[in-house]
Amino acid sequence: MLEVRNLTFRYSPEHRPWTFDFRVDAGHCIAINGPSGSGKSTLLGLLGGFLKPESGDILWNEESIVTLSPWERPITSVFQEHNLFEHLNVETNIGLGLHPGLKLTEPQKTEIADGLASVGLAGLGKRMPGELSGGQRQRVALLRALLRKQPVLLLDEPLTGLDEDTRHTLRALLLKEKLQGTTIVLASHDEEDRRVLADSQWNL
Ligand code: ADP
Ligand code: MG
Repeated sequence: MLEVRNLTFRYSPEHRPWTFDFRVDAGHCIAINGPSGSGKSTLLGLLGGFLKPESGDILWNEESIVTLSPWERPITSVFQEHNLFEHLNVETNIGLGLHPGLKLTEPQKTEIADGLASVGLAGLGKRMPGELSGGQRQRVALLRALLRKQPVLLLDEPLTGLDEDTRHTLRALLLKEKLQGTTIVLASHDEEDRRVLADSQWNL
């Protein structure tokens, strides 16, 4: 179970802090609801370890992870901005999620090629991020997170802006991921994403 206990945060002292408090069972998906600017991305930043809370705790399987750095947490994130390394090709961008070096083994290359096909990007492993459309970059970022196979997946508007066919395919892929045991925290405006993926909701 992922537990967020009275986690408080503010960007500057003159603002009233947010308090985040919810839990989600392993293998379930919780949708974080709230209008634009309500703090959904901020919450995911805190869970991922990219922002530091003022107080409160985050627990995974009853152990506090709140002081761990992002890469030490059992968590992987797909950001709204996709955060690809512009000077590295698609295959290497994804490979960096699998291990720290740049040199990929043959089995890793095969895994990445199969993964690219599963998100509709077959054969694009050697492309540079600058040669991809926004939707293609989004799918590379999503695949990179999925292949890291961490127990918890944070999704920030993961399918926004993609065409309906691609959204349908990727929603099914995310559902499969959840059914295989991945715990998901989802920030999405899309009613259909929440209907298909979410087991519970938390309102900001
Ligand atoms: P959401 O993802 O729900 O749209 P955000 O978490 O991105 O909301 O932002 C919540 C609020 O915090 C907004 O008012 C936004 O302007 C503000 N905010 C976001 N990032 C920063 C930052 N780095 N510094 C100061 N304020 C920020
Ligand atoms: Mg946001």
